[in-house]
Amino acid sequence: MTLAETPNNKNSSNPFLTLNYEPALESLGNDYYDEVVAAEFPQHILRWRNNALLPRLGLDSQTVTDEDFITAFGKFQERKPLLALRYHGYQFGEYNSRLGDGRGFLYGQVRAVDGELYDFGTKGSGRTPYSRGGDGMLTLKGGVREVLAAEALHYLGVRTSRCLSMIETGLSLWRGDEPSPTRSSVMIRMSMSHIRFGTFERLHFFQRPDLTKKLLDHVIEQYYQDLNTEKDKYALFYAELVKRIAKLVAQWMAVGFCHAVLNTDNMSITGESFDYGPYAFIPTYDPYFIAAYFDYYGRYCYSQQPSICQLNLEMLQEPLKAVIDKGDLEAGLASFHQDYHAEYKALMLKKLGFIELQHPQADELLHLTIAFLQESQVGYHQFFYEMARTFSSKWRDEPAFVLNNSDVVPALGTSAIFDNWCILYHKILNDFDPENMNAIAQTLAEQNPQTALLRPIIESVWDAIAQEDNWQSFYDLLQRIQSKQ
Ligand code: AMP
Ligand code: MG
Repeated sequence: MTLAETPNNKNSSNPFLTLNYEPALESLGNDYYDEVVAAEFPQHILRWRNNALLPRLGLDSQTVTDEDFITAFGKFQERKPLLALRYHGYQFGEYNSRLGDGRGFLYGQVRAVDGELYDFGTKGSGRTPYSRGGDGMLTLKGGVREVLAAEALHYLGVRTSRCLSMIETGLSLWRGDEPSPTRSSVMIRMSMSHIRFGTFERLHFFQRPDLTKKLLDHVIEQYYQDLNTEKDKYALFYAELVKRIAKLVAQWMAVGFCHAVLNTDNMSITGESFDYGPYAFIPTYDPYFIAAYFDYYGRYCYSQQPSICQLNLEMLQEPLKAVIDKGDLEAGLASFHQDYHAEYKALMLKKLGFIELQHPQADELLHLTIAFLQESQVGYHQFFYEMARTFSSKWRDEPAFVLNNSDVVPALGTSAIFDNWCILYHKILNDFDPENMNAIAQTLAEQNPQTALLRPIIESVWDAIAQEDNWQSFYDLLQRIQSKQ
């Protein structure tokens, strides 16, 4: 009997309980998880429902009630088993064998309308065997921040998990990094998978190549379907994972995102971005920007992200060696650098208005752009938004017209880098026909929204919630993000 056929679910009127659940991970046997029970909360106030995700689940947001969200994702009624997933991981370079879902569980896996299998994973749903000294809870601010990060990244084109719901749960929590007591929440994260690099690292730790192979076969079958029938599927899987991670980190870098905690337990085996704690979008271009207050040495600073991801991929080879040939792993990783740079370049050129730029000076344009952003410390997001806002076909006529209607640029003649940037940008525009200027303006507008999820904006949204229980600015911000304003 599958989960969806359990008697309780069959007659349920709650649309979330009758989705196409598949016990995909559960069917692998209990080596990978522990069955847990959810915490009971004193209160359930639905603060966020992601209506944009409902059609993908075959649901109509008009017919799904707030109460449906609450009974499913706040009270966890009628759904079993709830699985705390087992994993280990390298945290700031140190191996930690005491990890695992300490405040979450896999609520279920759903086959969506697009044919893909999605995880519903919780965050803040109570203690598990992996909670160590923790309370198993998520602060409301933590929930607010993860909802915002996931939506912002998604609408900027980053392959990311999303939050399906966030419910305030009425507890008082104590945290060292928030004024306490602080409010609590429980969140549902919809992602491709919660299988992490660290899930494999744990199997290696316990010297279980049999379980590694079983899990790897499952991962390929579910998340690398195209490779499943290939003779050398294992080698191809790793090469594809490397490509996906290279692409992901290029996306983070281009949109100016610093994940902050790139431990191997926060790296998804599907190459999707997830788990947003102390992240930040960079205010200005600063390679050494550190997002997490506890990242004392800047291990996960903005510019380290590509090399850290590469290192994490390299460390993943250790457990994968149980199944995949060493030479194949090394060959797979060899393309990381090139894949990353190609993707980063393409994305940055898009931010500069060019969907495909086969220009001999494209690299130089990129180099000058970064040099200017670093020298001037003008707002990273603001600079690109100003390009979009003030773009004019006149820029094609004269270098002096480039960005001349924007006040983010240095005074005339004060920055040689900026002057050279203007000359080159103008020159590249000149290689296009005048009728292409509209397309460039459109690309600039699409790639560079005005709204950037900078920390002061998140803090002001949070202040309104914390001080006046005013959620309007949170919803307004989400609305601006979703409409790419
Ligand atoms: P994170 O920093 O959110 O990726 O979490 C790292 C590890 O700490 C994971 O095993 C979490 O489940 C666990 N963890 C974080 N916060 C808590 C908490 N409040 N209670 C229990 N476990 C937690
Ligand atoms: Mg985590």
